[in-house]
Amino acid sequence: MSQSICILGVTGSIGQSTLKVLAQHPDKYSVFAVSAHSRIDELIQICHQYHPKVVVVPAAGVERLKQGLAALGLQDIEILTDEAGLVAIAGHADVDVVMAAIVGAAGLLPTLAAVKAGKRVLLANKEALVMSGELMLAAAKRHQALLLPVDSEHNAIFQCLPYNYMDAEKNGQPQQGVSQILLTASGGPFLNHSLEQLQNVTPAQACKHPNWSMGQKISVDSATLMNKGLELIEACHLFSIKEHFVTVVVHPQSIIHSMVQYVDGSTLAQMGNPDMCTPIAHALAWPDRIATDVPRLDVFSQSTLDFQAPDLVRFPALTLARQAMQAGGVTPAILNAANEVAVDAFLKHRIGFLQIAQTVEHTLNQVQNDAAESIEMILHTDQLARQVAGQHIKQLER
Ligand code: NAD
Ligand code: MG
Repeated sequence: MSQSICILGVTGSIGQSTLKVLAQHPDKYSVFAVSAHSRIDELIQICHQYHPKVVVVPAAGVERLKQGLAALGLQDIEILTDEAGLVAIAGHADVDVVMAAIVGAAGLLPTLAAVKAGKRVLLANKEALVMSGELMLAAAKRHQALLLPVDSEHNAIFQCLPYNYMDAEKNGQPQQGVSQILLTASGGPFLNHSLEQLQNVTPAQACKHPNWSMGQKISVDSATLMNKGLELIEACHLFSIKEHFVTVVVHPQSIIHSMVQYVDGSTLAQMGNPDMCTPIAHALAWPDRIATDVPRLDVFSQSTLDFQAPDLVRFPALTLARQAMQAGGVTPAILNAANEVAVDAFLKHRIGFLQIAQTVEHTLNQVQNDAAESIEMILHTDQLARQVAGQHIKQLER
């Protein structure tokens, strides 16, 4: 039987890769609903090709979408708007699988809606899990949702863990013979830049990742290593382990996507050419496998794999994230909100590259930690942190 898919953030990098995988398996999957925040013309083309039943856009984009769909004779596609629309498609009774590929905090409520509706949730939107942590996992358990990691590192770790690892009761310690997780990082475009050089790097340089083609926000996060910081927090929650069991390893070739070490001395790695179609296909089909057209890894041409420790002086974001995970409560949500605001300011040339982590550190020092008791509490903290980060950026600009 064909599975019905909802893609949140279909016009993005992950959204596009998801469509690419689905297009290869029209017998197995059909696109029921999609959402986009901008690029309405691309969205119209996607509707033309995949014919979803429901589309979600911001209210401001409805007229353009309606006209575009009408011109193609697609008036039968239902249009919903804004967050209410996203939540509605994510939890829709006719949807089996939700690809959570909105970037940033905007994805939290729709992702949570999918979890609460007990869907198979393919999680790309790491910010949602960083913000909500335990609450998201508890909801998944309560509503029997299947939360599967799409982030390439977490998907790799998932593949290297014992088969039923996610179901077992956990207490922050690695279980079933696992001793440590090695989270790999490419190191981003500025791996070998000095602090002085980092002062003057531009958004265009930051967005030019050596191995992956991704959205702007995650590209900047990869350059500051905040992406690895967010992924550290993501790993702690997904695999229910304390942060000191996760070691970050810089591996510039991005061939090994992460590793799991066991007490008997084994280290398992998942390898492949860097292409998000692989983890997307894995999460779609798990526990089965489906084909993608990602070129198979040629070990003869990729015969060198390098590893090094991350430089925490040039890339302080990683330490900030580790500290935020240690602090717990709403601190990861503060970290995430401040980072989103700072990355946006950097992309708009309002602050320099090194001021991103500086803004995050300032915000962490200003906003008080508290227990993350509810989603409302987390969203409230998110807003507070955005205000504090925004004010700090204004001062930096003076
Ligand atoms: P992107 O910027 O290319 O796409 C983001 C998508 O979200 C777009 O469809 C956009 O319209 C939508 N969107 C943006 N702001 C929105 C808002 N306020 N409300 C609703 N929708 C909104 O981003 P991406 O690179 O595809 O990344 C998506 C998520 O996946 C991020 O959380 C990222 O960290 C994660 N991720 C991406 C990659 C990758 O290779 N691109 C890898 C691992 C994880
Ligand atoms: Mg990743």
